[in-house]
Amino acid sequence: MHAFDADIEALATRVVDYALDRIRMRPPLDGPTEIPRLADAPTTITPTGIGGDLALSEFDERFSRACISVDHPGYLSFVPGAPSMASVLFDLVVGASSVYGGSWLEGAGAIHLENETLRWIADLAGFGPAAGGVFVSGGTAGNLSALAAARFRHRRDHGDRGRAVFLASAEAHSSVASAARIMDAEVVAVPVDVDRRLTAAAVEATVADLPDDVVDRICAVVATSGTTNLGVIDELDGLGRLARGRGWWFHVDGAYGGAALCLPELAADFAGIELADSFIVDPHKWLFGPFDSCALLYADPNVARAAHTQNAGYLDVLNESGDWNPSDYAHHLSRRARGLPLWFSLATHGTDAYRDAVRAGVDHARTAATLIEHHPDWELLWGPSLSIVLFDRPGWTADQLQQWSDSLLAAGLGLVVPTKFEGRPVLRFCIINPMSDGDVLAEILDHPGPT
Ligand SMILES: *Cc1c(COP(=O)(O)O)cnc(C)c1O
Repeated sequence: MHAFDADIEALATRVVDYALDRIRMRPPLDGPTEIPRLADAPTTITPTGIGGDLALSEFDERFSRACISVDHPGYLSFVPGAPSMASVLFDLVVGASSVYGGSWLEGAGAIHLENETLRWIADLAGFGPAAGGVFVSGGTAGNLSALAAARFRHRRDHGDRGRAVFLASAEAHSSVASAARIMDAEVVAVPVDVDRRLTAAAVEATVADLPDDVVDRICAVVATSGTTNLGVIDELDGLGRLARGRGWWFHVDGAYGGAALCLPELAADFAGIELADSFIVDPHKWLFGPFDSCALLYADPNVARAAHTQNAGYLDVLNESGDWNPSDYAHHLSRRARGLPLWFSLATHGTDAYRDAVRAGVDHARTAATLIEHHPDWELLWGPSLSIVLFDRPGWTADQLQQWSDSLLAAGLGLVVPTKFEGRPVLRFCIINPMSDGDVLAEILDHPGPT
C-alpha cells in the first residue's frame, strides 16, 4: 500500500488520465437518472480488495454518473461551483503532497501562500494590516467560527450575561440559525426593507423594542453581502457604523456574493464592509475553486485565536511558539491546506482574469433577465441582483413547475429547482459559471417541460 511499484505507477497513470479527461470534456449533467443503478451495484469493499483498476472503472462508469456535475453550465440552482482548470489541477497536487495546514511548524510554506491569498481578499474588503484568518470547509463553518469569536469578545468585555443574541434578517443564510442552535444562542430576526435589505434603521427599531436584558446580550449583527436566495447586499455601511457605536461585533456573510468585491463597478454596494470584524467568502462558489473552501477573515485575529485555540500538553509546543497557526482561528484542528487551489489559480491567471470571470456571472444574469422578459411563457419576478434572477410561469401550479424542473434535469439540460419567493414556489437562476451564457440560458428557458 505504501510502496511505489509498477502496479501503482500504472494506476497513477489511469487516475491522472481520468482527472485530465474529466476537466477536458464538457461534462454531462448526470444525476438522478443513474441513481437506480446504485441499487444493484456490486460490493466494492472486500477483504482482498477489488483492485484499483476495477474500483476506478466502477467509479467512472457507475457511481460518478449518479452525481450531478455541479460545473455543468446548465447547473443554475442553489449556488453552483465552477472550479477553474488550474484550481482543480492543483487540488491533485495538494492531495499528493500530504501538507498539514494546521500549524506553521508543519505547513509554513503552504500557510504563507494561503495567507497571501487571504490578504488579496482582505485588501478587496479594505481590511487593515492586522487582518488575518483561515480557510475553513465552508460558509457554515465560517459563520459558526466567526460568531463564536463574537461571543467570546462579548464575554471577555462584559462577563457572561447568559445566552448570546445575534441580530440577523430573515434573508440571512440558514447556517446563521444553525450556528446559533449549536451555540445555544438566540437570533433576533430583523425585518428587511422593500428591497429585501437589512438596514441600520430596522435594526435600531427592532432593538428599541427589546427588553434591556436581551439588549445587553447582543453580541453581533450579521449582515449578508449577497443573500443566497435573492442576491441582495445589506446596508453594510449603516450596519457597520451602528455596530461599532454599540460595541457589537459586525459579521458580514459573503459566502456567495463576497466574490463580487472584485468588481469596481459594485464598490458602492459593498461600502462599509471595511467596518466588519469578520467576513467570509466561499472560494468553492464564485471564486472558482474546488470544494470545499471558505475564506474566513478577522479584522483582529487575536480575539479569534483566544476564542478557538485548543490546549493540551501535546499542543504546547505549537501554542508556545508564537507562530501563526491556522488551527487557532476556527473550530477545527487538523486541516487540509484548502486555500492552495485558489492560490494557484490566482497566481496562474492573475486577479484581472478573476474580475472578468466574476463579471461574466453578473452579465449572464442580466442576459437571463432580458430573455425572460421577452419570453412569451415566463415572467421575471426578481433581479438581476448580483448574479441571481427569479421567475415564474403564469398559470402554472407548483406541481407543474416541479415537473418542468424534473424534465429539464432528465433531459440533461440543466438543474433549475424551485425556491420560495413571497411564500410560493418560483424558479431561480444563480449564475456562477462563465460558460452559462445566453445560448445555455435560452435553451433552458425554451425547454417545453413535460409532454
Ligand atoms: C452558501 C452560503 C453559506 C453556507 O456556505 P457552505 O459553504 O455551503 O457551508 C452561508 N452563507 C451564504 C450567504 C451562502 O450563500
